Amino acid sequence: MNVGVKSRFSFPGGVHPPGKKALTSESQVQPGPAAKQVAVMLSQHIGAVCRPLVKKADVVKAGQKIGDSDAFVSSPVHSPVAGKVKEVALRSHAVLGRVEAIVIEADDEGPAKQPSFQVPADFDVGKYSAEQICEAVRESGLVGMGGAGFPTRVKIEPNPQMPKDNLIINGCECEPYITCDYRIMLEWTNQIIAGVKLARRASGCSHVFIGIEDNKPQAIEVMNAALQGSGDGDDIEVVPVKTKYPQGGERQLIRAVLKKNVPSGSIPPMIGVVVLNVATAAALAEAVISGIPLTHRVVTVTGEPVNKPGNYYVPIGTSVGDLIEFCGGVSEDCAKVVLGGPMMGIAIADLTTPTTKAANAVTVLTKEQIGRAKFDRRVTPCIRCGRCLEACPENLNPTRIAHAVKYNLLDVAERYCMSGCIECGCCSYVCPANIEITGYIKTGKIFVARQKKKMANSKK
Ligand code: SF4
Ligand code: SF4
Repeated sequence: MNVGVKSRFSFPGGVHPPGKKALTSESQVQPGPAAKQVAVMLSQHIGAVCRPLVKKADVVKAGQKIGDSDAFVSSPVHSPVAGKVKEVALRSHAVLGRVEAIVIEADDEGPAKQPSFQVPADFDVGKYSAEQICEAVRESGLVGMGGAGFPTRVKIEPNPQMPKDNLIINGCECEPYITCDYRIMLEWTNQIIAGVKLARRASGCSHVFIGIEDNKPQAIEVMNAALQGSGDGDDIEVVPVKTKYPQGGERQLIRAVLKKNVPSGSIPPMIGVVVLNVATAAALAEAVISGIPLTHRVVTVTGEPVNKPGNYYVPIGTSVGDLIEFCGGVSEDCAKVVLGGPMMGIAIADLTTPTTKAANAVTVLTKEQIGRAKFDRRVTPCIRCGRCLEACPENLNPTRIAHAVKYNLLDVAERYCMSGCIECGCCSYVCPANIEITGYIKTGKIFVARQKKKMANSKK
């Protein structure tokens, strides 16, 4: 039985994987590698792919917009360095396979950029209109930095058909190993609060909450103290939520904080809720107050095999290999490199894969740790123990969906609400038969998406 169901500040289902945060939780944000070359993906967000605004041999400035789209759901991309466009070519993307990227050779290698933005002492949110904030957010290329990459302007923009009432700032960071958001909460507290106030003004939300897992008492304390100090303590409530994976999932956080369910197939704005990650809130303040585009982000480089794990301020487009090399490389027991955390991250084979706006971590795992990836664990038939059902935070029947996908019964999988799966991996994590349930479901969703695309194309 899941005791979390009874708590106001939790959600049904979920699991408790070892946190492994201690590897980097004391590591202050420090400059990452000085980029010699970056590859800025033209698709690093949900929505339309950008078209390149530069071509081979063009000279670009740091912060210059180099890709954009006219589509509403999209987000421009900017160069993190001054340099010359080497080529516009395909590069490995952790999720999408091969994606067009603008490859830029930096004029000089260093020094690496320090995070330097400070909220001005005379900051007054009343000086900004909702339109100004939304326009600045759009032009800065801001997208959700917690992993999803949804364009932030689309999230916060007022919509009379879907009025927003609750703004939830996500400071949970429930994935094992990752601590970049934790460090941002400790070190960039005022910046986050300024971003929260701007997001509230733009979205028109009347209630604001900052959800933080209760295994981060220092972040809760620092955030509360800063809110009291700035006089915002009555308007913005810090909500400690239970430490449980995937507490940082939008739907799970909404359930924990507001006791509301986002219906399957719906998105939070449909029930009047906006969820922004803490890193996104901090970047929003930079974008609106100083017009700084999103060209750098904090990335946790972690895992036992990494020689110098830590939290680094990294030019977006830096390759995973360059990042790992900057961290002193890895020990011989390294077996898997994951972009993201071990639960929802994507294993990558090509270390030239560039980091993106949503890439919060590079996690390196040993062979022993990925025993669950079936290197040394035998997959056995389902014993109908029901653990996957109990762990599923979306109240699905994971084993039935996986079984249907396995036998190519995609319509059956759809009837079991496959599309409602958030791909959290809890079902695979608890399965004593080592069945890669989430893998089957992800595959099924890809097949269904392809079928739909094919049908749409045939109707044109
Ligand atoms: S079925 Fe989907 S949502 Fe449910 S536990 Fe598995 S991966 Fe998570
Ligand atoms: S957890 Fe694994 S063994 Fe148990 S019911 Fe689910 S799929 Fe079957």
